[in-house]
This record gives sequence, C-alpha cells and structure tokens, in this order.
Amino acid sequence: MINLVNLKRQFQSVKDEILQAINDVVDNGDYILGPKVKELEDKIARKLGVQEAIAVANGTDALILTLEAFGVGKGDEVITTPFTFFATAEAISRVGAIPVFADVDPITFNLNPLEVENRITPSTKAIIPVHLFGQPADMDEINEIAKKHRLLVIEDACQAFGATYKERWVGSLGDAACFSFFPTKNLGTLGDGGIITTSDAEVANKIRKLRTHGTTKKYYHDRIGYNSRLDEIHAAILLVNLTRIDQWNGNRRKIANRYRQYLKDVPYLKLPSEASDRTHIFHLYCIESDYREEIMEALTNATIQTGIYYPRCLHLQEVYRSFNYKKGDFPISELLSEKLFAIPMDPFISESEQDRIIAILSEMRGT
Ligand SMILES: *Cc1c(COP(=O)(O)O)cnc(C)c1O
Repeated sequence: MINLVNLKRQFQSVKDEILQAINDVVDNGDYILGPKVKELEDKIARKLGVQEAIAVANGTDALILTLEAFGVGKGDEVITTPFTFFATAEAISRVGAIPVFADVDPITFNLNPLEVENRITPSTKAIIPVHLFGQPADMDEINEIAKKHRLLVIEDACQAFGATYKERWVGSLGDAACFSFFPTKNLGTLGDGGIITTSDAEVANKIRKLRTHGTTKKYYHDRIGYNSRLDEIHAAILLVNLTRIDQWNGNRRKIANRYRQYLKDVPYLKLPSEASDRTHIFHLYCIESDYREEIMEALTNATIQTGIYYPRCLHLQEVYRSFNYKKGDFPISELLSEKLFAIPMDPFISESEQDRIIAILSEMRGT
C-alpha cells in the first residue's frame, strides 16, 4: 500500500529528537504557553522576516482570531476562493462577516486578481488569498488591488509553510498570515496547532489577548476572547520539525520534478505547474484529467491511495445556500472540483514507489 501521505515515516525520521523534546517538556513543568512556544514564535518570525508570530490552537482559530483582531465582523464582506478547504470561509462566517467568492486561475488554482476586483463592494473589508496545495497566490496583484481599495490582505498559508514568492517567504506577504500545524500539513505536529505571523504589533497584541480569554493580566478581562493556545509539547515537536522543513520541502520538489519528468507527455494528464517567480512546496500533488474516475480506480486496484481536493466548491455547499450561488457561477473552480485528483506526495516517497505510481498512470494510454 502506498499512502497519499505517509506520516508515520516522516515522524519516525525524527522520532528520537521528538521523544527527547517531549521528555524535556515533561521535566520542565511548563505545559501551556511556556518557553518552547516562545522559542517557536521567535524562530518562525525571524525565519519568515516578520516582527511577530502568535501560536494558537489550530489553523482555523488562526484565521478567526486574525479577522477579529483586525475588527472584521458583522456586515463586512471578505473575498476569498471557493476552491479551498472549508475552514477559510468558515472563519469568515464565524466572525459574523460574509464570505464573497471569486473564481480561481486555471493554471495555479489560486484566486484570480481580476475576479477579486470585480467582487469589491463598499462593504468589502479584506481579501483572503489561499496558497493552495503549496503554491503562492498572485500576491503583488492582490496587494495592489487591496491598496487601491484600502482592504486588508490575510494570507491563508495553511498549506504552504516554506513556499516563496519573488524570493520572499509566504507568511510575510500581506497584513497577516495564518498557518496550520495539523499533522498532514507540510509543517505539522502530532495533533492540532497553528500560528499567525504579522508585522503589526498592535494586532499581534490583540491576538495574544484573544487567545487567552481576552486577558493581558491574569483574571482581569477586558474583552470576550477564546481559549486558543498552543501546547508546549506541540511547540517542542514543531521546533524539531522546523529544523527539517526546508529539506522536507526540497524533497517534495524533487519528487514533483520526477513526476513531471516521467508523466509530462501522457496526453490525458495535465500536471500541476509552478509559476516562474515562486517556489511551490507541493503540499499536495494534484493532476487534472477527463478520466479521473478510471485513473483513481486503477490506482486503488494497485493499492495506491488517491484523494480528491476538493469535491465540492464552497459556493455550492449546503450551509451557504442562502447566498443563492448556483452551479456555473465559478466555472474554473467547478471544473477543478470535477477533474483534479491527488496522488501520493510526502518527503519520503522512494523512487521505487514513485515508479510504481508512474507505471500505472502511463499504462492507461488506451484511455
Ligand atoms: C488545514 C487548513 C485550514 C485549517 O487548519 P486547521 O489547523 O485544520 O484548523 C485552513 N485553511 C486551509 C487552506 C487549510 O488547508
């Protein structure tokens, strides 16, 4: 069996260091927001070139707390993509704002800046570009639109730790950025976690207050907040994985290059591409094909796991039916939801495993 993501193998590769780090936390006695969390925040802020990083309980909370800290709420509109994980729009709805969808680019699968501009109204407050599958969105164009219309830009970088755009790290490209440390994300822990990066000190302090029940001084509360903290144990694990992330992302890129090398001429497969001014870290490797069902079935029969990201666009979700979107509103996103499928991708896939996947994918030439 070849898994879509083999997490076990990745964690095994750093197991001794992780167990030692957990051991140190147990001995140290600080279990919530202790020195390891502080160290992780400092290291991530320094690496990405931002002033502040604030660790929270998960990526969804990272988005919610960021929107709330910027004052986005009831009646405000936030423009984002309908082709993303639900949490992006859920966070917008959770703070009382309205998610407004704009279609994506067919090559990068990311927000199309022209479509974003068409959706701006006097109620628009923010844009949330998602760096989908690990490829940075068109940030210069989006930032320019935001500047012209005085909007916030919040990166949903949950799938793209370590990706770059014009030689700058994802997470430093907007007013703030949100990351997830869910185990399957390219930088993940053995549980839930998330972090927000920003160079706005005032917003960072608001987020710090929100994550601990709206308090700066213990037992004195000046706003309604959340309980959204990163555990010390997860920070310790993430500090180990952080020392490997560039190498792991490099492996992902090598594996993606090899897929491209052997599959580029298969006529019924459209491979993911990387824009020339950015590094895609291939959180997922998604291929487009008119024969998705047949190909996925052949791979399943060969005990190779596949996945669909995402089978239903957000504008067509039951929960958003009151917005009266309909099929055909965002044709590119809808097409991608019908044709994309993911094949195994993680930093430790061996060449022989890859050869087995490549063989099945090219054998279907009769299709
Ligand atoms: C995973 C993910 C999230 C949510 O992160 P969690 O840590 O699972 O809450 C948000 N947006 C995107 C694009 C994601 O992939």
